[in-house]
Amino acid sequence: MRKVAFLTLGCKVNQADSGAMEQLFRQAGYLAVDFTEPADVYIINTCVVTDTAEHKSRQLIRRAARQNPNAVIAVTGCYPQIGAEAVKHIKGVDLIVGTDRRREIVSLVEKARQSGCLDAAGALSLDAGFEELPSGNVNTRTRAYLKIQEGCDQYCSYCVIPYARGPSRSRPLESVRTQTSRLVEAGFREIVLIGIHLGAYGAEKPAAGNLCAAVKTALSVDNLERLRLGSIEPTELDFELLSLLKNDRRLCRHLHLPLQSGCDAVLRAMKRPYGTADFQRIVDEVRCCVPDVAITTDIIAGFPGETPAMFAETCAFVEKMAFSRAHIFPFSPRAGTPAADFSGQVGREEKIARTKELARIAKKSEEKFLSGLLGKEREVLFEQAEGETLMTGLTDDYAKAFAPLDNSLLGGIARVLITGLEAGGVTAKLAMTAAKIPTNMRL
Ligand code: SF4
Repeated sequence: MRKVAFLTLGCKVNQADSGAMEQLFRQAGYLAVDFTEPADVYIINTCVVTDTAEHKSRQLIRRAARQNPNAVIAVTGCYPQIGAEAVKHIKGVDLIVGTDRRREIVSLVEKARQSGCLDAAGALSLDAGFEELPSGNVNTRTRAYLKIQEGCDQYCSYCVIPYARGPSRSRPLESVRTQTSRLVEAGFREIVLIGIHLGAYGAEKPAAGNLCAAVKTALSVDNLERLRLGSIEPTELDFELLSLLKNDRRLCRHLHLPLQSGCDAVLRAMKRPYGTADFQRIVDEVRCCVPDVAITTDIIAGFPGETPAMFAETCAFVEKMAFSRAHIFPFSPRAGTPAADFSGQVGREEKIARTKELARIAKKSEEKFLSGLLGKEREVLFEQAEGETLMTGLTDDYAKAFAPLDNSLLGGIARVLITGLEAGGVTAKLAMTAAKIPTNMRL
């Protein structure tokens, strides 16, 4: 039996793409093994969202080639899509596939085995449509990513993704239904709808339905227990989607709305499609419509031209927004993006200092959010045991819960009472098991 090993860098969409390719190899009779083990084929699914990610991708490609010079080394994902020549010149690479044609990965590997370096990273076009790959998660049986959108047309000034992922394309609604059913039948308790630009779902063919139509389609599947939404651009939330969030207890009360900066001048330089007043209005509307909703975000610290005064504006705005969690990234210039050549690049030490300051502010809001859960009941999807005595899982509003280990509850949804705070989460005790949770009673 031939062995294949995967190593994936980057976002949830890349993780989902790797999971899909792994299923194709399993269906072709391959055994999937850990990347540290000897294998006949190594797939490195790369990321180039930052210089560091690109550097790491190169390191892992070289490591795979050293580990088994006789193996087929296949490089997929964003790196070969925007840097095919550079990847082809890394010693030992036999196949490059960009962010399309993953459906053919098994046959391309077979071809590369015979012919040596094979370049299958072609240009990305709207006409190619959405590449339908099997969905699911090969590592857990509880939560699965369902990729329903690919690509992006927004071209934020710092972002390389539109160049690596091409124009926005969407999974047809009927495929959203069949894949959701398949995942529910396979026993997944939570499905996460993801995309590179999820909120742009259907934008290329408006008549075929927007994100809300895709969410309704997934929710129409029998026995679906939980549906979570991946990152959505704040301007792409609509009232219909918020009403669903308010009224359907299966839809997790968690929205990830990337802010990126809390200063209007920086947002303009980033080419973000909103100002701070718009962002605040949207968040206020969401919180008014769905009171207990958790709002998480992404913020870039040290964008070119960000003065100390602008940074102070961002700190004040982030504090005011009181996110339940925020991921803070120091600006990383990406070759080929406009922002990489902007004047006023902020020094490395200063970027790190600003990242730390924003993380401190965000931590305070996160602790305030978690404290607000004390004494309340929440439904938790318990995913894994933590040591001998504990188990952990996520509430629908994205808090990590620690509870006494009960193997009969692992892999299922149970109602808990939040009893205390724990590093990065909350402690909880069982209030009610899944079977007893009234289906129409939203907490
Ligand atoms: S919306 Fe902006 S940040 Fe997000 S993928 Fe598109 S270009 Fe990048």
